[in-house]
Parts: sequence; C-alpha cells; structure tokens
Amino acid sequence: MSPLGSKSESKNSAPLVVQKFGGTSVATPQMILAAARKAIRAQQEGNGVVMVVSAMGHQTDHLVELADEINENPPAREMDMLLSTGEQVSVALMAMAIDSLGYKAMSLTGGQIGIRTDSSHTKARIISISTDRVQKLLEEGHIVIAAGFQGIDENFDITTLGRGGSDTTAVALAAVLGADACEIYTDVDGVYTTDPRVLPEARRMNHVSYDEMLELASLGAGVMHSRSIEFAKKFNVPIHVRSSMTDIPGSMIVAQPEVLDKPVSGCAVTRDEARITIFDVPDVPGTSYEIFSRIARRKVTVDMIVQNVGENDKANISFTVPRSELKMTLAAVNEAIATLGAGSVSEDDRVAKISAVGLGMADQSGVANRMFRALADESINIQMITTSEIKISVLVQRDQMLAALRSVHRAFELHIPPSETQLAASIIGAPVERVDAVDVVERLQGMGMEDLTIHSVTLDKSQSRVTLLKVKNSPGIAAEIFETVAKAGIFVDMIVQSYGENEQADLTLTVPRDSLDRATTVLTALSDELGCGGVTSSPSIAKLSVSGIGLRSHTDVAIRTFRGLADAGINVQMINTSEVRVNVVVDGEHGDQALAVLQEAFADAIG
Ligand code: ASP
Ligand code: MG
Repeated sequence: MSPLGSKSESKNSAPLVVQKFGGTSVATPQMILAAARKAIRAQQEGNGVVMVVSAMGHQTDHLVELADEINENPPAREMDMLLSTGEQVSVALMAMAIDSLGYKAMSLTGGQIGIRTDSSHTKARIISISTDRVQKLLEEGHIVIAAGFQGIDENFDITTLGRGGSDTTAVALAAVLGADACEIYTDVDGVYTTDPRVLPEARRMNHVSYDEMLELASLGAGVMHSRSIEFAKKFNVPIHVRSSMTDIPGSMIVAQPEVLDKPVSGCAVTRDEARITIFDVPDVPGTSYEIFSRIARRKVTVDMIVQNVGENDKANISFTVPRSELKMTLAAVNEAIATLGAGSVSEDDRVAKISAVGLGMADQSGVANRMFRALADESINIQMITTSEIKISVLVQRDQMLAALRSVHRAFELHIPPSETQLAASIIGAPVERVDAVDVVERLQGMGMEDLTIHSVTLDKSQSRVTLLKVKNSPGIAAEIFETVAKAGIFVDMIVQSYGENEQADLTLTVPRDSLDRATTVLTALSDELGCGGVTSSPSIAKLSVSGIGLRSHTDVAIRTFRGLADAGINVQMINTSEVRVNVVVDGEHGDQALAVLQEAFADAIG
C-alpha cells in the first residue's frame, strides 16, 4: 500500500493533536511533568498526541554563551551539533515523565523522525519530513515526543532551524501528519494586540489572521517564529496559541482577522534595530542589487528599505537591520560603496521600529494620520516611514519606544474587545478550509516544504508619485501633512519618508493619477507653510508587486527583483517590502517591460 493510502486511513481512525512546549514551559522538572500530564489528558480524550519540545528554559542561550567563550566564530556545523543537545535533553526527560505517570512515550531527534533539511547550518530549511515512524508509534499507542528546532541534512549532519525554530517543527509536523490541531503552549496565554510584557493594556485576541501574525511575529510580537506562520498559512494549519499554566483557551491563528472592518488589529515594536544610510549613491540601475545582494549573502534580514528620489543623479538609501547584525552589514555596505563609488555612510543603533498592522488598512491616508497624530501628541519624532498593504512602520529613537507604542495602541483603541457580532461576522465571513494531509504530502514530493511560493507578479499603472522635499524632521510634521491630505480626500497607497541628513527628510506618497493635481496643490501649500523644499512629482509611475509567502525569510526575493530590473537597465525609484509582498516603483514607461522581467525572474517560484 502506498504511504499516502495508509496515511489517510490512520488519520480517519483518530484525531491527532500536535502540542508544542516552549523552553519556558519545560524549564523545570515540575513543568515537564505538568506538560506530560497535558499530553496524557489529550490522549485520554481520544487523540493521537505528538509533542514538540524546546530546550529547557534558557539552555540554548547558555550553549551559545559557552561556545562564545571558546571560539568567537564557531563553525556553524559545530554550533548545530551543540545547540541540538538542548532539545535532546528535554525530549528524553519528557518521555521519562510520561513513563513515570504510567503511559507509553518515545522521544525522537529530528534525524530519527526524518526531518530532512538543507545544509545551511544554524538557519536550515526543511525539505521533507517522513511520517512512517511517527505514524507507527502513534498506532502502537505512544505519545511521540519530537525534538524541536532540529533536522538532518543529506550527510546525516545535524542542522538547526534558527532560534525559535521549534514552532516551525510543530507546524510542519502538524501539516504533514494532517493534525486536527496544532497547540503552541507558551508563557503567554495567547496573541495580544501588542506585547503584554511591554504594554500592560495589551488585549488578548480571540483570533488573528496569518498575514497579520506574520507581520506581528517578525516585528517582535515575540510569540511565534515567523517561518512557522508562513508554513501554517501555506498548508492552512490552524494554530492555537495558549498558556502552559492554565487550561483556558488562548488565541487562534487562522485565515481571517478578528474584526473584518477594523483598520488596525495590532501594533508591534522592534527594539533592537539599527539604521544605516548610504549617501550619494549613483542613481542608476543596479545599485540596489549591488548593495542588497552583498548583505543577503551574509543572511542578514533587511527591513524598512527607503530610497529617496535622486537629486543630481544621486540618491540616499536607508534601511534597518537587527542591531546584532550591524557590524556584519557595515562590512557588506563598505564593499558595495567601494564598487559603486558612493559617498559616506551613517549609522544609528539607538533606534526602534513601531508598526501598526491590520488586514483592513486599505486607505493608508486615514490610518497614517491617526498614527502620526498619536506620536505627535507625545512629541515623538518620526525618523523614517515605510508602509506596506497591511502595515505602517515608523522608526523612532529607542528611548521613546514605549511612549510611541502606547500612543499608537490607544489611538486605534486596541484595548477594546470586539463585540460578539463582530466576532461572529469574521468567523462566518471566511471559513477556514483545511487542506487534506494527502495533498500536503503530494505537494511535498514536488518541492521543498519551505520553498518560496509566489502567488503573483502584478503591475499597477494607475498611480502617480509626489514628493515633498526637505521636510523638517521634527515631531508633528507628518501628522499635519497627513491630516491635510486626508481632509482633502486623497487616497494614499505607499508612504515613504527617507532618513534626512541635517534633520531634513523627503516624504514620498503614491496616489491615484486623477488625484495627482490635488495632491500637488495640497503639498505645495504645505511646503510653503512648513518651510519645506518644494514638491516634485512623476505623473506616470509603475508599481510592481511580487506577492507570496516566505518573502521575508527568503531574502533573495528582493535580490531577484533588483537583479532582474538591473539587468534590464530599469532604475528603481521606490522600494518597500513586507512579509507577503515586495513592491518596487519604476518609471511608468518601463512598467510593461518590468512586469515581463519579473514574471520571468520568478517563473520557477510561481505556484
Ligand atoms: N531552543 C531553541 C531556541 O531557544 C529553539 C526553540 O526554542 O524554539 O531558539
Ligand atoms: Mg519560542
């Protein structure tokens, strides 16, 4: 019988639950026993149970420190050999705990399960998972205990999936086993409108959509590993995030947002960001590629890329990276500068990023002005702005981070729970469709599980660009500008505020072409009133969007985009990236050519 046939039969015989316990939920022997009891209870209720367990407490951090004391630059392969031991300890103890309570359990390493990954040590990606051994153990009545965060490559070398990777192990196992539930037990009791450890008035959400969670997770909501959410979305695995301390239900992560018509669902803070600005980059095709491909080769995740429209054929490019990766990034940047003949570099590692996220944020002008007003009222200066379809991000000084987060959270009334009617509308509005386990396995045969999936490459020729030059970089200016724009009824799509040297920044918006005249009039008046440096615009721009899943963890999406356009000699005017989309703006007359170039560049990933 084919493995597919036996799989679906066993699935029909008993419901299956995957329960993942994070490090803080297995930090002590007592907590391991408590987790064991939860698993046993689920089994007694008639479920097959697969546990995925992280290393105890801060064990992984301790191992990292230990390595650091011996070698500042430990070989990645040996790092994986070391880090994977943390999970090996906890799964063995978990199996012993279940045994002591009188039930059958067996612990398995990633290699023993057959979690095959590529060989990029410390950041490995899952290629496939075999289900035979787990299925057989379940049929024999075992609780199966899987070591999180690890796998094995083609040489049988141990790999790890990146810090926090046990979430990904859990969701991936739930997907291939066709589990009915994937429960993530952690030290918080659900997904909050913002990190409750930072902001006490944060509210636990009933449910949150995959897309919002993707933005929130990578923005530092700190609840789940973002790659696990990409996975869950791709294979439609509903996730239940809940506390290991109680039995109360937590939050579901599913396809639909909590309230269908609310512009913002949550906000997040990334405290340890660093900004880098490269001045006087020649404004010619290929420069973005030159810079970001070098950074990508070092596997640094770049965010908030902002390029201001070139003056005298030179542009300034700013972006943020995790503070811990600043040094590495600067090395890459200095190489690129030498090649490009660009000017100087400035950096600031005392910044934080605040983002408002919501699937319902279609009209950014209405949302942006509320957010910027809230910040202005606290006298917080906005250093940079970027937006995506479902997110507005601002960069602020780190010591203003808390005040910034609080003011944005309040402005969108995120502390107020939705009504029963709103909840019901959201759930009825978009039922979750589960993919069949068999489909998942079939899809796995043709591709690596974590391969990039691009849904579409699209072209929007309906917009214009308008830029307000030399905007004074001080609190309240962005609020005033966007309140005026919103009052004029102008629909704004992309917003980008560059980092300005000498406290002066450029603010660029894209607007529908038929509101360009109105936008220009409004912004020109504002320029006079606020003492800015005037307004420039291009009536005809082309916005290209590459949409899909896995864009953030696949740094190469932005790179492929830049390379494709560079090879075709097309200059990139604006860039913005999010978890689910990379947008670039090019000159209108190059729109169709750019579309063809990108369709070609992503031909192998569209699915
Ligand atoms: N133990 C690993 C870490 O701390 C994996 C995990 O907990 O998800 O990153
Ligand atoms: Mg974790």
